Order: sequence, then C-alpha cells, then structure tokens
Amino acid sequence: MAKTTIETVGEFNLIEHLSKTIECTQPSTVKGIGDDAAVVHYGQAETLVSTELLLEGIHFDLTYTPLKHLGYKAVVAGISDLYAMNATPRQILLAIGLSQRFHVEDLDELYAGVRTACARYGLDLVGGDTAPSMTGITIGITAIGEAPKDKIVYRSGGKKTDLLCLTGNLGAAYMGLQLLEREKRVFDGQPDKQPRLEGYEYILERYLKPEARKDIIDSLAAIDLKPTAMIDVSDGLASDTLHLCRQSQCGVCIYLERLPIAAETFRMADEIHIDAVTAALNGGDDYELLFTVPIDAYDTLRKELPQIDIIGHLCDAAEGACLITPDNQAIALRAQGWK
Ligand code: ADP
Ligand code: MG
Repeated sequence: MAKTTIETVGEFNLIEHLSKTIECTQPSTVKGIGDDAAVVHYGQAETLVSTELLLEGIHFDLTYTPLKHLGYKAVVAGISDLYAMNATPRQILLAIGLSQRFHVEDLDELYAGVRTACARYGLDLVGGDTAPSMTGITIGITAIGEAPKDKIVYRSGGKKTDLLCLTGNLGAAYMGLQLLEREKRVFDGQPDKQPRLEGYEYILERYLKPEARKDIIDSLAAIDLKPTAMIDVSDGLASDTLHLCRQSQCGVCIYLERLPIAAETFRMADEIHIDAVTAALNGGDDYELLFTVPIDAYDTLRKELPQIDIIGHLCDAAEGACLITPDNQAIALRAQGWK
C-alpha cells in the first residue's frame, strides 16, 4: 500500500491526526494539545523542565532503529533527566522536523512508541511543534515534572566520604550499538544476507528500548532515603561522574572490580575485542542513575536495596578523581568526552 505523503494531508491535519490518539490523564494537566501553549498546575511543588535534542545520523540510525523504538527511547531520554533530580515527570512536548522522506504512517509508528512510553511512565503529551526539514528527522523532547522543594536532588550536594552508588549495569547499550553497526556493515556488503541478532536480545534491548529508573526513585522514596547528589548516566560513567564531582567540589574513587557489567556485555566485548570495562566507563545510553548517600546510610542501602551497587566514594577534591584497579593501583579518571 502506498504511504501517505505529509504534503497531501498538510501540517494542520497532520497535527490533528497525531493528537487524536493522545489522551491526557494526569490531574496536573490543565490544558493539553490544541491551544498556543499547554497549561500545567502543580500546586505547592516546584516545576522542573528539561529538554533533549535527537538528530538522525548523530544520535540514531534508522537503518536499524525502528521508529516505534525511537519514539519510546526519545521519551525515556527526556524524562531520565527529571528522575535524576528526584522529580516526577508528568508532561512531555514533542517537536519534530521532517524531510519528505517521511510519511504519515512513519509518524504513526513513532507516536505508537511515544504513547507506550507515556502509558508506562504516567505522562501526558501536551504539545509540540511540527516543521519541514531539509534532511532526515529531528526530534526535540521536553519533559516537565514536579517535586517538593526539599526533595530535589542536585548534582552539587555530594560530600566527601559519601558513598557512590549506581543502578543497573553499564556498557550494555554500547555493545548493542556495536552489534547493530557490525550487522549493518555486513548487510551493506551483501544485501541478501540477514542480520544475525539471535542470542543478543539483552544488549539490543538495552540500546533500542532503554528504561528510565523510575523504579529506583520510587524505592528510595519508600525507604525515605534522599541521595545527597544525583545524575543520570547518559554520556558514560566517566564523564557523568566527573560532572557530579566537579559540582559537588569533591574528588572520587571508583573501584573497577565493582563496576556492574552484564554477562552479555562481556560476551559481546570479547567477540569484537573491546575491553568491557572501557565500554562501561565510556559507552553511552545507559540511562542508569549515579548517586551519593552519606556513609551511615550503608546498612539501610544494603538491606533495603541490595540490587544497587556501591562502586566507590567521594573524597577530598585535592585527591582528584581516580579509578582503583583490582591490584590496588590508582589511575586518573578521565572523560573520553563527547563523541
Ligand atoms: P502554533 O502555530 O501556535 O505553534 P501549532 O499549529 O504548531 O501552533 O500547534 C497547535 C497545537 O498542536 C499546539 O497545542 C501544539 O503544542 C500542538 N502540536 C504541534 N505539533 C505537535 C506534535 N508534533 N506533537 C504533539 N503536539 C503538537
Ligand atoms: Mg507551532
């Protein structure tokens, strides 16, 4: 069946078509899609806002990223930053730039992923913008949320001797991306070949369908443990740890043997001769939470949230940022930086 060009429906009808499938359920949404601006109301709580820009060819490759997954992942990337402030995201706005390569059916796919994520995390899509672009697809996602003033956690609250804690595991999404890139290269050479993706489900899911750690924010609240500082790990543990340390005016020690790395990540790393620990330190797209708690929260944390790894501790700024190897050597922690 021929796909519907956006030209034939026009921007106005396209927005109406997309917003028809959107329902608002959050009590804090006063006005959603349809006017010049959305209206939200949080009463006494503080309002938190964050935005992410995703560019085709830089942040994603549509040869192996289904649009449905892209929609889901865009929402996760957008709200992860609010969880990292210990806040609750409630609304999102979605801005999209589209070239003529894209059809109405493609946007339906994208929005199916967006709707799934909204349902999963309790979010209302309350607006956006739609514009033509010269090439590719661009997605801007803005998240709005709330938190009581005294519950907000900044990057700057860490104190020396605080424990450095991490959710989940690292490097899996990076390995999923390496696998997809490898299969794409094979496919480019021999288009009749099918990509070999069986047995790699875990790392593929970590790359294509990541989750934001709402569960951890809920668990920490349930045991009344407020981190002193927090950041989400989206650019790699090394660089995100350095951000937290700099803003907290502290140094840090990370024990390499304590870095959580999944068996599937090790397996893929071996296969393509990449060091799994390097991937854990510098790979991106993990969407895990890195946070600090006072040292006397150790017992509570171990007892109540044993799935969280304590990977190191903050220290005096003068001691700098270092990695401790299994044979007790200290090496400087460096960010590989923006790729
Ligand atoms: P304006 O010209 O005032 O910017 P638009 O026609 O762009 O208005 O938008 C009309 C309504 O549709 C607004 O509520 C806007 O937030 C919403 N909207 C526009 N594009 C999208 C989109 N891609 N997804 C969701 N809502 C959108
Ligand atoms: Mg507009």
